[in-house]
Amino acid sequence: MDLSFPLNEGLLSLYRTVTLPGRELLRWRWRRSQRFPLAILFYHRVADRHANPWTISTADFARHLDWLETHFDIVSLEEVQQRIRRGICPRPTVAITFDDGYAENCDFALPELIRRQIPATYFVATDFVAHGRPFPHDVAAGQPLPPNTIEQLRELSDSGITIGAHTRSHCDLGKVGDGKRLDREIVGSKEDLEQWIGRAVQYFAFPYGRPANVSQAAIDRIRSAGYAGFCSAFGAWNWLDADPFHLRRIHGDPGLERLKNWLTFDPRKLWQAEPDCGNRSRLLAGVAS
Ligand SMILES: [Zn+2]
Repeated sequence: MDLSFPLNEGLLSLYRTVTLPGRELLRWRWRRSQRFPLAILFYHRVADRHANPWTISTADFARHLDWLETHFDIVSLEEVQQRIRRGICPRPTVAITFDDGYAENCDFALPELIRRQIPATYFVATDFVAHGRPFPHDVAAGQPLPPNTIEQLRELSDSGITIGAHTRSHCDLGKVGDGKRLDREIVGSKEDLEQWIGRAVQYFAFPYGRPANVSQAAIDRIRSAGYAGFCSAFGAWNWLDADPFHLRRIHGDPGLERLKNWLTFDPRKLWQAEPDCGNRSRLLAGVAS
């Protein structure tokens, strides 16, 4: 059965109401068993100008943080991994990440996270930072948005933001078969960042992050390069019986109502098919334990 059909905001509200008893039952079981699945959100750009599908306004981002702070433990990726390894997650839990490295995130989003003392991981494609070059897809759209500078990344790291690697060139690693190219993108971006911020870089995020963009050869390189884990981005939850080296992420960008629907355990999201495992059986395992 295809459970991925889209719903508009009105239908979404009705859908949440109708499915509330089932969600409450799951919450009750997971609270009792201390086995909540964990969500990791990914954003790209928080700004009030040049809106595009990977941008959220400053006001909406603040509303997201208000709601998340009220209803979730907001933790680092390291803490997500620790909860998975221990097999214990007693409360609804979320982690926040960003991809790409847009300079405007330093105007509001990142200072706001630092002010609220919310942990976050910030994944950067290093060629664009090194050369001060906008992303080709932004240039093509007539919006050559500036990337972060090395100084900004250093300051963010010094302020407690975790900096992660997102390749050098933002290429689709699912299409890269050449070992030397994989090394340049995976090991090279780690080395660039470590040189810039003076700290070890522990996490890697695949550009695009869909199953087709995540290859086993790339995962093997990530592991041998000494990363502590990697992020995909195809909208799945992190179950307590999963391998914590692979951190699954959910879009943070859409409107608050959609985010609320997903993060209050929308069964369509929980049961979303995943190529390398069966989430349906994981859901049932979590409920039964
Ligand atoms: Zn990206």
